[in-house]
Amino acid sequence: MLPTAMHYSHTLLKEIVQPGHIVVDATMGNGFDTELLATLVGPKGHVFAFDIQEQALAATRQRLAEKELLSHVSLIHRGHEHVADYVDGPIQAAIFNLGYLPRGDKGIITLPQTTKQALEALLPRLAPKGRIIIVCYYGHQGGAAELAAIQQFCASLPQESYNVMSYQFINQRNQPPILYCIERKKTALTFN
Ligand code: SAH
Repeated sequence: MLPTAMHYSHTLLKEIVQPGHIVVDATMGNGFDTELLATLVGPKGHVFAFDIQEQALAATRQRLAEKELLSHVSLIHRGHEHVADYVDGPIQAAIFNLGYLPRGDKGIITLPQTTKQALEALLPRLAPKGRIIIVCYYGHQGGAAELAAIQQFCASLPQESYNVMSYQFINQRNQPPILYCIERKKTALTFN
């Protein structure tokens, strides 16, 4: 069966993230992606995970503690637009899950401006063959504007330096999420 956007995002991470890598979870949420990344990078790697809601940090902290993965994860209670304050070396991957926290406050959503700021900060730090994955949920109020901003941002990246794909089911009800993947080319000439 064709994978959901969420499952496919994990496949795209598993293909490239290896022990020792430095990676970013830009939207911790309930911590599923943080857990996957922490497992993939192992104790010699590191995950920088961001969320603006204490509820997300608490859920993620508990999930990681149960799996004994906390030692190589930084849970950062701040917006991903500040990623450059925490991460400077090259990163292998970053993942975003946009929208609101499931079972949380539906009024607290990711926003086009800050999502774009985070992407702009991450791109120059992306290692060759590294990937930024964005799973864009857009059925909520404000979601369509964010989707448009992401689509435009991704589509305008220069082909010389990045491969950019989108993945979506086009015959489903209820606006299933759309996945974007930005892959830095191995041969990218400039560092951006
Ligand atoms: N819609 C997805 C989950 C999205 S969770 C699903 O259904 O599976 C999105 C998370 O991003 C929320 O936990 C929210 O608190 C967080 N968030 C919102 N703005 C943020 C920001 N600027 N930086 C980091 N996290 C943010």
